[in-house]
Amino acid sequence: MPARVLEGKPVAAALRDAAAARVAELNGRGVTPAAAVVRVGDDEGSASYAGSLQRSFARAGVEMRLIELPAGTPEDAVAAVLDELSADPAVHGIMLQEPVPAPLDAERLALGIAPGKDIDGVHPLNAGRLFQGRDGGLVPATALGGIRLLEHYGVEPKGRQVVVIGRSTIVGRPFALLCLHRHATVTLCHSRTVDLPAVARTGDILAVAVGRAAMVEPEWVKPGAVVVDFGVNFRDGAMCGDVAEEVAEVAGALTPTPGGTGAVTTAVLLSNLLEAASAA
Ligand code: NDP
Repeated sequence: MPARVLEGKPVAAALRDAAAARVAELNGRGVTPAAAVVRVGDDEGSASYAGSLQRSFARAGVEMRLIELPAGTPEDAVAAVLDELSADPAVHGIMLQEPVPAPLDAERLALGIAPGKDIDGVHPLNAGRLFQGRDGGLVPATALGGIRLLEHYGVEPKGRQVVVIGRSTIVGRPFALLCLHRHATVTLCHSRTVDLPAVARTGDILAVAVGRAAMVEPEWVKPGAVVVDFGVNFRDGAMCGDVAEEVAEVAGALTPTPGGTGAVTTAVLLSNLLEAASAA
């Protein structure tokens, strides 16, 4: 039987509904939630993402200031912009869009984002809170979106074997930690994992955040497993995930690409912004 398709749109819609109530409540207190997104360079994908984020925030009644800096902007100049935004009481959330062009260092720049405004959870203080399993921190939106998606479809990580492929600090690693805090038994894989297909096959839930088109094949998947595909790749002009389409014949449930995890990320960024604005 083909896998159940775990669409992202209904998850995002539910998150946006919840956000609408919080925006109204903040407006009632005289607060208009406002985000600032800083983008450096002329990466097309990044520009198009910033545009869609701006439209989505505008629909939610939230302001978004887009600060576009030319490629070649020195790191201290980018840091100065982040400092200024961090100090601006009218700005509740800040995101530095990745990738940043070399030689800029996104991790170093993240130190300049006020932790309370860090809506993509990149500051070490927020990463540390997540590591320790403490409440109150802001969590990377894509990883948290994967959890919101599982919650929406009633998939419980507790007690299950969760295998995550990819250990970046913005997707794979935080998703693994979020599953651990939900009492899953977690295996975190990466480019040096030996016999990756065999390890992947142990997962009741298999999450993939690598960035290699259709890398995960049906033989890598435990029959009936829930597969969460974070990958965004382009092949022959079409978007595809890290998981091959044929996996649908083996998995019990599967997020589609496009229309799966990516659709939820923006809605989680909005929730993170409202959390930051409420706490300000
Ligand atoms: P990174 O490049 O930062 O990390 C990739 C990870 O995959 C690394 O941990 C790397 O291992 C691992 N890896 C690479 N090759 C292999 C391999 N052959 N076998 C096993 N592991 C491998 O990517 P991101 O985490 O930033 O992004 C991952 C994917 O998610 C991308 O496709 C990106 O576009 C997508 N993405 C999707 C979002 C969404 O909203 N759905 C948002 C953000 C990203 P090692 O650490 O050993 O190098």
